[in-house]
This record gives sequence, structure tokens and C-alpha cells, in this order.
Amino acid sequence: MPPSARRPFSWQRHGDHLVLTGAIDETARLAELVAEAVDGKLALDLGGITFINSIGVREWVRLQAGAAEAKIQLELRRVAEVLIHQLNIVPAARGASTVTSFFASYLCEYCDDQHPSLIDIESHRAELARMQPPPMRCPSCTKAMAFCDPAELYFSFLSGTSPLS
Ligand SMILES: [Zn+2]
Repeated sequence: MPPSARRPFSWQRHGDHLVLTGAIDETARLAELVAEAVDGKLALDLGGITFINSIGVREWVRLQAGAAEAKIQLELRRVAEVLIHQLNIVPAARGASTVTSFFASYLCEYCDDQHPSLIDIESHRAELARMQPPPMRCPSCTKAMAFCDPAELYFSFLSGTSPLS
């Protein structure tokens, strides 16, 4: 884990959404974010989340439960890879929230470098429904990159199925 991964949790409002950054652990009071909903909606930008531990997952599930109880529509944008792994293995972590875009790692075999790439669900609905990674080009050399994770496991949060069941 890079030293920056345990950057303390913080959040800020940016227009219609909240931007969450840092580590989701025992210091992250996620349940209180429910109070930030406007007109029954709450959108979270999760691109800056660098780490989540088991206590953090519990906090995250409390946020999902709190939003469901208050009938708040939770939209998750730019979901970081560390969170996608949790959504895939902990069904309760998905709650009733809607993911609109998320990060996934692609490998450029020419540069021998991994690039986290943002996948917009609406624009790639057809590929994602077939569990196929949308094609991505290397930001350095523009050649086609390869998807790093087993796609059917990584995309399982989209279909609401668990790879473990
Ligand atoms: Zn490259």
C-alpha cells in the first residue's frame, strides 16, 4: 500500500454532489452524510477513495441502510477500484444505490504500465451487459489496453449477482 493510501477521510460539497476522499476506516462517519441529501437524492463522487478496511465496510453498509430507511436515492459516481471490490463481495454494500461510473485497471503491454480508467455505465451499457470490458487506449502511447481483472468478477456488482454465490 502506498503511504498516501491511509490519507484521512474527508468530504466536501461540490455543486450537486459530495466528493469523498481518503481512507474509509474507523474515522469515516459515513452515516451522517444522509443528512446532506437534497430533495431525496444524494450523489457521491468516490474517485478519491484510496482504502477501505472491514470497519469502513461496516460504516459504508450503515450509510446504505440509512439512505434506504430515509428513502434517499443514492448515486455513486467515479467509484474507486477498492470500493468496487467491496461491492462485489459484500451484497449489502450495494444497498439500493445506483452506480453511474466507476474505475477499472487496464494494462498497456507496450508501456508495461497499469492505468486506472473511468468507465461510464450509460455509454457502455451494451458491452457491460455482456460482461465485456469497454475498449480503452493507453493515455501514453494510445495503443489498445487489456483489462486487468477477470471481467465477470469485476462487473458482477452491475448485475446484482455475487461471484461467490
Ligand atoms: Zn502504452
